[in-house]
Amino acid sequence: MKTIALLTLMTIVVCPQGAPPSKEPPGGLLPSEVPQFITIGSDDNNSGDGVNFLVDELMDGRFNPAGTDNPATFDGTPVRASFYFIGVHERAGGMVCDAHRNVYLKGHEIGVHGYAHEVGFDEAGWREDVAKALDYLTRDYRCDDDGNTINGLGVPRSEIHGWRTPMDAYSPELFRVLQEFGFVYDCSLSTGFGFLGEDATNHTWPGTLDQGWPASFPDSPGNFAGLWELPQSRMDLPPDLGGEQIGYCDSDWFWKTPDRSVDRPAAEIATILKYNLDRHLGGNRAPLHLCLHGNAWGRQEWEVIRGIPRSTRTSERQAALTDFLDYALSKPEVRVVRQIDVVGWMRDPAPLGELPEPTPPATPPGGGGSGRCGALGVEALLAMFLVALMPRRNS
Ligand SMILES: [Zn+2]
Repeated sequence: MKTIALLTLMTIVVCPQGAPPSKEPPGGLLPSEVPQFITIGSDDNNSGDGVNFLVDELMDGRFNPAGTDNPATFDGTPVRASFYFIGVHERAGGMVCDAHRNVYLKGHEIGVHGYAHEVGFDEAGWREDVAKALDYLTRDYRCDDDGNTINGLGVPRSEIHGWRTPMDAYSPELFRVLQEFGFVYDCSLSTGFGFLGEDATNHTWPGTLDQGWPASFPDSPGNFAGLWELPQSRMDLPPDLGGEQIGYCDSDWFWKTPDRSVDRPAAEIATILKYNLDRHLGGNRAPLHLCLHGNAWGRQEWEVIRGIPRSTRTSERQAALTDFLDYALSKPEVRVVRQIDVVGWMRDPAPLGELPEPTPPATPPGGGGSGRCGALGVEALLAMFLVALMPRRNS
């Protein structure tokens, strides 16, 4: 019997069970005990200067709060992010390749955003697309300006763990292929839908898809044992900016009006980001996962759209994002880490050490919080119907 008991115990220890997505931090920890993770996940990354801004100007030289010098909670570690590259950029030339290689050399996470930035494949199609994308990332390092040269980033396959789907068009066929290739996580879903009872105080924490995702929109991803999902964070608007919700990607924050005809001033972008961080900190402290696009932060792109000069300059948006990051790093609980670091922490969650000044809980407008999760009313169902008619983001 002792042998059986020991084997049972070893099975429990050696074979980790799934980690269901939850509104609560892992390991029985209280929100007040856990780091407030911020993850910067950048896809597309078509332009060298946008990627270089994120790496060389935004993050280089910035460090997480010192905490109690505990590596298990990333105390004092360099600020790091995750970049999801497109395989077809193997032919984009030296400037893009150099920027991508720089991401790797600076210690950021390299993930995959497909080969051709196309979606809707069957399993065989996804298998081919994923394999071709991985080829660019893992091929021997070579960044050449010659347009005929197929470049490579030289990233070890063992260091590539994450996937974000182009246009977030995930599917069961794709997820089966991600499991085949041994991906640790996907980050194509999102959390924070008001009509599902969510706001920035009660986003869903990452978890494995053994039993699917509890509040999926627009589609249920299905059940995929052991595959982690790190959802992107939708944004609440501060009351004085309208008090509603906007999408989860940078291109959603850049526009003041839903028809995307009026630029949002850069200062408002910083205000929105700070407001949402405060709401996460005062809520269940689910990670704040920012969906960026490296090209959107370059100096050339986003200055003129469809021939119309934009009123908010790229440099102003860069300053706003920098302002937000400095604000975030002034909070003792905040840790800006790679997505794979969040998975690692969730597998073995460690509490923060004694902090100098805990952040007081924010009071969510309307008494929100986890208590708002419940059965969907007529209004919520109507909102779901209306949102279903909206176009999906083009990214
Ligand atoms: Zn994309």
